[in-house]
Amino acid sequence: MTQVYTGAIPPWQAEGTPYIWMPYTQMQGAATPVPVVGTEGVRLKLADGREIIDGLASWWSVCHGYNHPHILAEIEKQLRVMPHVMFGGINHEPALKLARRLANLLPEDLNHVFFADSGSVSVEVALKMAVQFWLNRGVQGKNRFVSFKYGYHGDTIGAMSVCDPLNSMHAHFKGFLHEQFVVDLPRDNATVAALDDLLSTQRDRIAAIIVEPLVQGAGGMRFHEPEVLEALRSLSEIHEVLLIFDEIATGFGRTGSMFACDQAGVVPDIITLSKAMTGGVMPLSAAIATDRIYEGFLSDDASHALMHGPTYMANPLGCAAANASLDLFEREPRLEQALAIGAQLATELEPLRGLSHIEDVRAKGAVGVVQVDELRELDWLKARFLEEGVWIRPFGDAIYVTPSLTMCEDDVRTLTSAMVKVVTEWSVRVS
Ligand SMILES: *Cc1c(COP(=O)(O)O)cnc(C)c1O
Repeated sequence: MTQVYTGAIPPWQAEGTPYIWMPYTQMQGAATPVPVVGTEGVRLKLADGREIIDGLASWWSVCHGYNHPHILAEIEKQLRVMPHVMFGGINHEPALKLARRLANLLPEDLNHVFFADSGSVSVEVALKMAVQFWLNRGVQGKNRFVSFKYGYHGDTIGAMSVCDPLNSMHAHFKGFLHEQFVVDLPRDNATVAALDDLLSTQRDRIAAIIVEPLVQGAGGMRFHEPEVLEALRSLSEIHEVLLIFDEIATGFGRTGSMFACDQAGVVPDIITLSKAMTGGVMPLSAAIATDRIYEGFLSDDASHALMHGPTYMANPLGCAAANASLDLFEREPRLEQALAIGAQLATELEPLRGLSHIEDVRAKGAVGVVQVDELRELDWLKARFLEEGVWIRPFGDAIYVTPSLTMCEDDVRTLTSAMVKVVTEWSVRVS
């Protein structure tokens, strides 16, 4: 086994390790996780005193950098007034203010905000909205979904069922997961025709199509053109199925526009948001529906109400953080920063193109990806990145970065230099 972190192990880690279960990790023989004792700006402070640049912004979420004083101040204010209160039968200002602001930022009539506490749960809510929308209209049997290869929508059961089977352990959970239609994105005539055929024959069983617009994240780090979203919108209308955009990863500036769907001018029926919504400070998510979807739940029949309600939904600290984060999007040029980072990533990662075992090099907004044929020597890669002073965690077939949108040019260059150096070494090592 290659150790990733070779610095001093703090006592809390030595004492706690027997009791902790890490995500997506074979615990037997697992490399020691990196002990992080603080964050500041775009840096993680390690127990051994080193400070490293976070290339991932804590899974795409820390869009303004860590410990942003405005977000901290707004959370502290809210903390003294009301850290939490149930949302059943109760309203509070941070949530209603945030709902109104989100509705104003989102295109057209995506106006009806349902809050939840994690991305996966907001996907569950969106799937339930779609199924119940049809039921409320008296249409039976529309309870399946179309989703896409390399897609990722979360780790809960419904969300997992619409992921690419390869990344969501479908094989492990066959019989437990709902079977969905996981197909190729409609990128060309053949794939558009294939989806058109599928919808023609199965439309009576399909509630909605779900897709991550422009950038498929955790399932493969693949990009597609806005035309794909136009094709999905028109096919969904022709065949009377709903369209859900999962913007949990792409939302809030990551692709260079506030929402990825803005670049296509395509409006979904339901959109999910989370990750960067609170600037990466508090767990919070939302599923937001258009007027038509929302009106499908208005009825004299009480059972037509949306049947969902997480204990911590619309947590006031999370809403305060999200409102503060939106203030920063208003005051500071985040979208320009995202585009500048994207241009820099594209230029500075380009030297890797053409090396053996490198399949592709690409960037869109503040997402930079080096795709390899097979991700061998994973712990060696992580260890070398750490030695170079950067936090990068390759997975699948992608060595990628999603930096904070505030990362300065020099820090981005440190990231890309480390990638070019380490991946070049790796390319020789695995040959
Ligand atoms: C991260 C992610 C999710 C799941 O969000 P969690 O907060 O991890 O549950 C869903 N969809 C997309 C596109 C994501 O990137």
